Amino acid sequence: MNTRPTAATPTPRPRIAALPVYSRAAGSASVRWRASSNESTVAPSPAIRAAVARAAAHAHLYPSLAGDDLIAAISERMGVREDQVVVGGGSLALLQLALTAFTGPGTEVIHAWRSYEAYPILIGIADAQAVPVALDHEYRHDTQAMLAALTPRTSAMLICDPNNPTGTALPPRRLRALLDAVPSHVLVLMDRAYQEFDRTEPDAAALVAERPNVIVFRTFSKAYGLAGLRAGYAIGSPEVMRAVRATAPPFGLSAVAEAAALAAWSDREHTRHIVDTVTESRETFRRALGERGLFTPDSRANFVWLPVGDRAEALQAACVRRGVSVRAFAGEGVRVTVGCPQAEAAVLAAVDECGDRAASAAQ
Ligand SMILES: *Cc1c(COP(=O)(O)O)cnc(C)c1O
Repeated sequence: MNTRPTAATPTPRPRIAALPVYSRAAGSASVRWRASSNESTVAPSPAIRAAVARAAAHAHLYPSLAGDDLIAAISERMGVREDQVVVGGGSLALLQLALTAFTGPGTEVIHAWRSYEAYPILIGIADAQAVPVALDHEYRHDTQAMLAALTPRTSAMLICDPNNPTGTALPPRRLRALLDAVPSHVLVLMDRAYQEFDRTEPDAAALVAERPNVIVFRTFSKAYGLAGLRAGYAIGSPEVMRAVRATAPPFGLSAVAEAAALAAWSDREHTRHIVDTVTESRETFRRALGERGLFTPDSRANFVWLPVGDRAEALQAACVRRGVSVRAFAGEGVRVTVGCPQAEAAVLAAVDECGDRAASAAQ
């Protein structure tokens, strides 16, 4: 026998072995429309594609160490110093760096729940303790409860605004009150992945100038339509960003992603087109759901939250049967990415089907 039943295999750290797995949306590989990952429904503009092709011709060379050109462009438009900006392969990667730099064993990270499913995973990788705080009855961050969750062990608070998957945003006054009440030694990670769809541009420069404990995370994946290339940026005070930069892998942003992000950053017409497409679809879709008696929270993002509770998985299955992938959270609801009227029509048909089924089951 050449099997070695007693051979030990390398053991990961217990926290790593216990991490939840980032879920895949049911049917997303085979459907006609993808409405499960909040991707843009608009393909890259010709200017972006040309920039990608130009960068690809030099793919044998390393990019700049830290994404210097993109940092310069962001710092100029946002009105912050270059040492206040860190760029990387997606905003999630940057969030991971910040959690690694500022949290860890023995510390707690407060975040809303239901919120982005990546948070418990990223906090677990940093070996910190996640402290989830339930959303309020309007599907918003419960700012009072989040403040009540602060302890001497709190190292950071995550704020997802607009919140994924409910789409809700905090009224600016409530957000400000929350930031004012968080002690200045606690890092505040503001995830603004969907900010552009909110049609507001809170002054990130002023925010981080007033509050050196805040980092704002933004992405090229949603309103810039570059999810497949992986690019994001973070803005904060020079002091906190120095630590984030210190944890960053060298060459973390690929040359192709940087070129595409730079082109998308200057192609403001393209971003406007994506935002307009989403806004139009979102309002039409919410109105159609409302006409069917299905309440949806006021979404400020590129998706709509359908709080269908126990019918979530049945609705997801009905959507997939009709050719559109959506994201179900069992017992809670379904998140539908918007921006394609045909996909939204298919979801509405699935909603009608599930509603009828539920009604006939009740008879
Ligand atoms: C989509 C999304 C991101 C973006 O992540 P990238 O790594 O930049 O693609 C970040 N935060 C939230 C809440 C998101 O929904």
